[in-house]
Amino acid sequence: MNRTPSTNPPFGLKPNEVRQLASFTFDDNAYSGLPGSGGEGGIKFILDLFNENKNHDGSPIVGTFFLKADNITDNDTEENSYVKEIWHRAQVEGNEIAMHTYSHPHGLEFDWDADPVTRTPIMDLNDWMAEHEKWYKTMEKPYAPEKEDSGLGIKKEDIVGFRTPFLEYNDNLFTSLDKLGILYEAAVEEGWQEDKNGKNEFWPYTMDNGSPGETFVSEAFYSQKPMISSHPGLWALPMYVFTTPPDEMCEKYGTRPGLRARLAADNPDFDVNTGKITGMDWNLWFEYFMDEDDAFATMAYTFDLHYEGNRCPFYVGMHTDIYCDKYDKNDLEGEEITKIKANAAQRRNMVRRMLAHILSKKDVQVLTAKDTIRYLNDPELLKI
Ligand SMILES: [Zn+2]
Repeated sequence: MNRTPSTNPPFGLKPNEVRQLASFTFDDNAYSGLPGSGGEGGIKFILDLFNENKNHDGSPIVGTFFLKADNITDNDTEENSYVKEIWHRAQVEGNEIAMHTYSHPHGLEFDWDADPVTRTPIMDLNDWMAEHEKWYKTMEKPYAPEKEDSGLGIKKEDIVGFRTPFLEYNDNLFTSLDKLGILYEAAVEEGWQEDKNGKNEFWPYTMDNGSPGETFVSEAFYSQKPMISSHPGLWALPMYVFTTPPDEMCEKYGTRPGLRARLAADNPDFDVNTGKITGMDWNLWFEYFMDEDDAFATMAYTFDLHYEGNRCPFYVGMHTDIYCDKYDKNDLEGEEITKIKANAAQRRNMVRRMLAHILSKKDVQVLTAKDTIRYLNDPELLKI
């Protein structure tokens, strides 16, 4: 079926007639956080937090885990068995397992010296298919964490979602997803267009005619043709940009006024007028070096724009690894070491506050990415 990009909710419903859907989605997932694994937090922190809360209708809080499969074959930071165990727990507790490739390859090569910068695809169709096949082969093996040669016992047909590493998709990737019958991809950005303000984002759509977000970015930032052609029926669950709060909104969201000026001081490319940044947690902590309060204010303000605007679903792209103590020991490099303003415990606290903020609203449903599509196809579920 074809869903045209639209700023209105589907089925002719008005924004005040639909539920605000919200999905926490997590990439990579190398750090279990289990006792003995070398650091608290990680995936266990997220699963425990979900279990401590419930949706207003009593249903469990669940999310989507985009797994990088070689974390259970070549994980050099943790015993494979811990990771298998916690991935299995995520699945058993009703979270969605989705694909994030086997080995996390780059899909594009950037020429930063060109003006404007150019992007060139470096993964062809066969390269993407080889990644997918390795992912399935690893995950399909029966679940037996104590054995080295084991997986999660996952069935191919149960996997419907994919997020591209580094958000570096090219058209070959979407063709490979078409071949596999994948339902959605979750790395296409929306919200950079000048007329977008968080209250009027495009609702998720199928890429029958490509993607308006990609078309804008390719022309405005790279002067290139879009990387997405026609992929009938394949959903884009967009990576919506975050909007940092303007000065007059900072206190309401628990942070000091001047957030945008603070970001601009460190980042010459930051636009203080729109306040927009890439909608992933990594960018909050390690591109803009926010502290806990600034990061919470940014995420909560963006959520409220969706909620008070056209009720477009809210997806937040995250990394469980960032919320593990091991991250600060293993993963910081270069300027991150000196510029970082929030440690793992403070970052975890931001996630706690964000879930509480979402659940403080009426008519909100926190669910998997896959389930949002079920809601988007059923007016009875979507209506309040
Ligand atoms: Zn990743």
